[in-house]
Amino acid sequence: MVSEFMLQQTQVGTVLDFHARWMVRFPDFAALAAANEADVLHVWQGLGYYARARNLHRAARQVVAQHGGVLPDDLAAIAALPGVGRYTAGAIASFAFDRATPIIDANIARVLARLLDLREPIDSARGSAMLWQTAAELLPVSGGRLHNSALMELGALVCTPRQPSCQSCPVRAHCCAEEPATLPVKKPRRKTVALAEDCAWTVRDGTLLLEQQTGPRWRGLWKLPALAAPPRDSRLLLALEYPFTHHRVTLSVFAARAPGQLAAAQRWVGLDAIETIALAAPHKRAILRLAATIKARG
Ligand code: SF4
Repeated sequence: MVSEFMLQQTQVGTVLDFHARWMVRFPDFAALAAANEADVLHVWQGLGYYARARNLHRAARQVVAQHGGVLPDDLAAIAALPGVGRYTAGAIASFAFDRATPIIDANIARVLARLLDLREPIDSARGSAMLWQTAAELLPVSGGRLHNSALMELGALVCTPRQPSCQSCPVRAHCCAEEPATLPVKKPRRKTVALAEDCAWTVRDGTLLLEQQTGPRWRGLWKLPALAAPPRDSRLLLALEYPFTHHRVTLSVFAARAPGQLAAAQRWVGLDAIETIALAAPHKRAILRLAATIKARG
């Protein structure tokens, strides 16, 4: 369940270390349920999309409260946990409990779209429904784990995105794709939108002014205080770019004077303690770079 949550928006190679660290810190549902949110976000720090960490935390509390700390093996009960969508529920039921439940990930979607020669965009309601229906129809009565793993491996190793190895494909006889490399079809991508994010760098006696996010994005994480606009009389210290959904955000950090009074969500944090708190990843990058510059200058 932990790996499925982590893999929702992150590649396997990145997840491996985080997963190992997470399982040492939270070896079971009871340990995770008992942790406070700041601890949970700190261990998740660097994986991004923090809603996953919050949902996993809430799911652990639900498993402890409603299922005695043991994950239920029933698909409906798994699907009722926070942050568990159709794919994640099916993947947990299938990989953890060997249930014959359909799942659709990118590899399986590609394989099925080609087997069907599906011209409908797979990210449309109709295309997605056709894939789920086909995945359900192909399931064996038992052995969901092996079946779903095999479909994923077929997509990863044989029915690859650009040059599928149709000559050596074990399901070639059942495949309707005439031009497999053109499949699957997807809806046109949204255009990338440029966004500017201006922040303040305020240092006093070896401490840095930070503020905690309260909105949905990065909620609970710490970041540099936001500026409504770049200050006229200030120096730009650093600018870096990062992606956020379909946005390309330019984070600009300006030197700023300490405010007369701190806002409720603001706090001074020792520059030497930065690594111990949960920071939004782009802000952490900016802070560590600027802190290193200060240190180098002595
Ligand atoms: S025959 Fe080719 S396109 Fe069809 S499933 Fe196999 S690898 Fe994919």
